[in-house]
Amino acid sequence: SLIYLDGEFVPKSKAVVSVFDHGFLYGDGIFEGIRCYSGNVFCLHEHIVRLYESAKSILLNIPLNPEEMSAAVVETLQVNRMSDAYIRLIVSRGVGNLGLDPSSCAKPTVIIIAEPLNLFSAELYEAGLKIVTVPTRRNIPDALNPKIKSLNYLNNILVKMEAARAGCAEALMLNQDGYVCEGSGDNVFLVKNGKIVTPPTYLGALEGITRNLVIELCAELGIPCEEKPFTRHDVYVADEVFLTGTAAEMIPVIEVDGRQIGKGQPGELTRRLTEAFRGVTSTRGTR
Ligand code: PLP
Repeated sequence: SLIYLDGEFVPKSKAVVSVFDHGFLYGDGIFEGIRCYSGNVFCLHEHIVRLYESAKSILLNIPLNPEEMSAAVVETLQVNRMSDAYIRLIVSRGVGNLGLDPSSCAKPTVIIIAEPLNLFSAELYEAGLKIVTVPTRRNIPDALNPKIKSLNYLNNILVKMEAARAGCAEALMLNQDGYVCEGSGDNVFLVKNGKIVTPPTYLGALEGITRNLVIELCAELGIPCEEKPFTRHDVYVADEVFLTGTAAEMIPVIEVDGRQIGKGQPGELTRRLTEAFRGVTSTRGTR
C-alpha cells in the first residue's frame, strides 16, 4: 500500500520517520482512526473537527487546513484503490532536538495510512464479548484530557494488556472515583429497563464519534438515552452492555468480571441500534 507522508505517497517500506521525531521520542502528537465503507469516508467531517481540536489543545499547528486534510484522506484511499478500509491519520510535532521543548520542531509530520481492518472476529459480533475491569485508571481530565486523541496511549495500552492477561479482548477503565469511563479504545453503553446510559466524557473518556452517532440514533429511534455516571455494580446488573468505536463499530458485551449480562447474549436494543448503525455507515460521510 501507499502511505501519505508529508504530502507524498510512498511505499510502505519507505514510509519511515526520524528517530528525532517528537512523536516517537515523547508521544507528542495526535491521531484519528477513520473508516471507509463502500467508498464513503464515514463521518470524515467529525473526525477532522476532532483532529483540529486535539491539535489546538496541544498547541500544534497542522500544516494543512481542514479541507486539504480531508482531501488528502480521500486521495489516500483513491491512490490505494480502496473502498473499505481503516484509515490512520497521524500528526506528530515533527523532527527536533532531544529535549521536551518542541520549539526546535520546525514542521509537524503528517501521515495517512489506509489498511484493511477487522478488530474482532465475526463470531464475536454474533456471540458478544466477555470483558473485565482492570486496575489501571483513566487519565484524569485535569492532566492529559482523554478528549485529546494524543499519541500518548500508554494508559490505554496498559488496559489492553491487562485485558489480555485476563483472557479478554477488551476491558473497561474506571476513573479515580470508581466511575466507569470507557474501554481501551471504545466507549461503553448500558441498557437498563429500556433506557440507554453512557458515561459523561468529563469522567474521563474520549468523545467518541461512534458514541455521538449512537446517541443520535437513539433519538431517531425514540429510545431514551442519557449521559450519566455509573459504577461497576450498575454494569453487572444492566440488561445489556455494548461498546462503540470506529474500529470496534458496535459490539455486544455478554459478561463483565464473571457476571453474566442479561441473558448472556446480545440484547434486543443493542441489536436494533447495531442495525441502525450499519444502515448509515455507507451514507453518512464523504465520498
Ligand atoms: N475511546 C478511546 C480511548 C478511543 O481511542 C476510541 C477510538 O477512537 C474511542 C473511545 C472510540 O471513538 P470513536 O468512536 O470516535 O472511534
